Amino acid sequence: MMLSLVVPCYNEEAVLPETISRLTRLLEHLVENNLVDAGSHVIFVDDGSRDRTWQIIQDASANSQAVQGIKLSRNQGHQNALLAGLLDTKGDVAISVDADLQDDLDAIKKMILAHRQGSDIVFGVRKSRDTDTFFKRFTAEGYYRLLERFGVEVVFNHADYRLMSRRAIEALREFNEVNLFLRGIIPQLGFPSSIIYYDRAERFAGESKYPLGKMLALAWQGITSFSTVPLRMITALGFLISFVSFGITLWALFIRLFSDQAVPGWTSTVVPIYLLGGIQLLCIGIIGEYLAKTYMETKRRPHFFIEDRA
Ligand code: UDP
Ligand code: MG
Repeated sequence: MMLSLVVPCYNEEAVLPETISRLTRLLEHLVENNLVDAGSHVIFVDDGSRDRTWQIIQDASANSQAVQGIKLSRNQGHQNALLAGLLDTKGDVAISVDADLQDDLDAIKKMILAHRQGSDIVFGVRKSRDTDTFFKRFTAEGYYRLLERFGVEVVFNHADYRLMSRRAIEALREFNEVNLFLRGIIPQLGFPSSIIYYDRAERFAGESKYPLGKMLALAWQGITSFSTVPLRMITALGFLISFVSFGITLWALFIRLFSDQAVPGWTSTVVPIYLLGGIQLLCIGIIGEYLAKTYMETKRRPHFFIEDRA
């Protein structure tokens, strides 16, 4: 069984030398124990880094048979870099792991064993979020729950640390969507799957490449690319408001026809205008979001272009 490790890297010069040596040592260990074939390797995907990342990958590739590199022509974001690496693998099995050594590498061996037991996809799930800040833990777990509520199939607390078999990767290739949220797509592939729990450490070196803005963008992507619940909520809201308006209309007519107190009320004229105006704008905004997505999808833009290989 030939294993390809896929590692997306964006400005990771601080941590890469350590990552390279740990991963190559791990591969040697796996080969010695006959868990994987000798041709197994690591593919580092340089996601348009502006530091020495690509140079480090090139050097490592020149020094070691087990190291390969792909350089994307520009920064495409973590999800696209990961996809580029996965779709480029030739191995029987691929495991994606972050460059920052946060994910416990011992889980790789467990994933391979789970694959041998028949799993096409093995999800790495972190045991706890002790190493996260309160804010991150609270928002991340709340977000996974929200996704479940919205009917998006995700594996709770699973990020992008996972094993995929060749046929799972080939299935992933069939997904042509531009708005990429791998955590939502991969559970949809089906195939036998299992979960491995692991401890997540602090970043080994360097800073997070996921600032709040990128994190929110990914979160928004996850909802709008997979769920139509927000659209259904508009319909529900529309029903509710129509119902209330109907009641108000009846009441106004009753006052007008059966009493002599029909003072044209300023409040009852102006308030609904504001209220409805606001709600309509909100709804149009959400519809627009989906329209934008449809528009982007119809373009079928390529996800990446590989500029160089090592
Ligand atoms: N990454 C990437 N492109 C980006 C941002 C991040 O390839 O635009 C990579 C990064 O190098 C790392 C992984 O994605 O290997 C996860 O990023 P990071 O560890 O910074 O995220 P965090 O763990 O803080 O959520
Ligand atoms: Mg990280």
